[in-house]
Amino acid sequence: SDHNLAYPPSPAHFDWSPHFPHLAHAGKRPEVADIGCGFGGLLIAIAPLMPDTLIVGMEIRAQVTQYVTDRIAALRLAALDNDIEMSSTDAVPKKNIWAGTPGGFQNISVLRSNAMKFLPNFFEKAQLHTLFFLFPDPHFKARKHKARIISPTLLAEYAYVLRVGGIVYTVTDVYDLHNWMVTHLDAFPLFKRIDEATLREQGKGDIVDAVLNGTEEGQKVERNGGQKYFAAFIRIEDEK
Ligand code: SAM
Repeated sequence: SDHNLAYPPSPAHFDWSPHFPHLAHAGKRPEVADIGCGFGGLLIAIAPLMPDTLIVGMEIRAQVTQYVTDRIAALRLAALDNDIEMSSTDAVPKKNIWAGTPGGFQNISVLRSNAMKFLPNFFEKAQLHTLFFLFPDPHFKARKHKARIISPTLLAEYAYVLRVGGIVYTVTDVYDLHNWMVTHLDAFPLFKRIDEATLREQGKGDIVDAVLNGTEEGQKVERNGGQKYFAAFIRIEDEK
């Protein structure tokens, strides 16, 4: 239930500075959102790829959101620390691999929210240039399909918050859900499919790799030798 979820009446009422204390000055706002970010693997993977861009994960589960919050706080500290880190159980000094990460993880944060209800409360029209839907809950049963995070009604909201030229990435290991997402996005007049090779030619190969392998769910599927189905769509102009 989300009766206790706080959300702003409009994006203008939302203060991003507690989320991005180093960067959210002068009205700087997120331009990338990871919907249902889970444990935050994608945020961490893409943070150094766009250190000047604010990236926010949206997650409905309170404990998971807290975990990601703590994880980002730890990474922010580790990024500043150039010293060798010694683990208490390990006699061998371990190098702090996060030290000096571009952007120092100051550009990522997580927000507890029901993204199916409150997206336009957080983001203005055309505010975002990238939206991720990575391994969304499949809701297998037909009577639960309305609970899926990609649906004709919600696509109108995603098109609203995404600017023309912006990209929606989807990935899942559930073939039926992949077909469902592709069918709905294809049918929606404001989205046009863009293939993986074209994205790589456009220099977005690192993002594609993070989409496929950067999340906890993607890594689990990898370990189990499962199949991953990728699709991406570009937000096109409104033809009135
Ligand atoms: N994207 C992550 C990954 O690939 O590891 C997590 C995938 S997990 C299967 C789906 C996540 O979406 C869960 O963490 C769940 O709590 C979250 N979620 C489901 N419905 C949501 C909603 N309406 N708003 C925000 N998050 C949601």
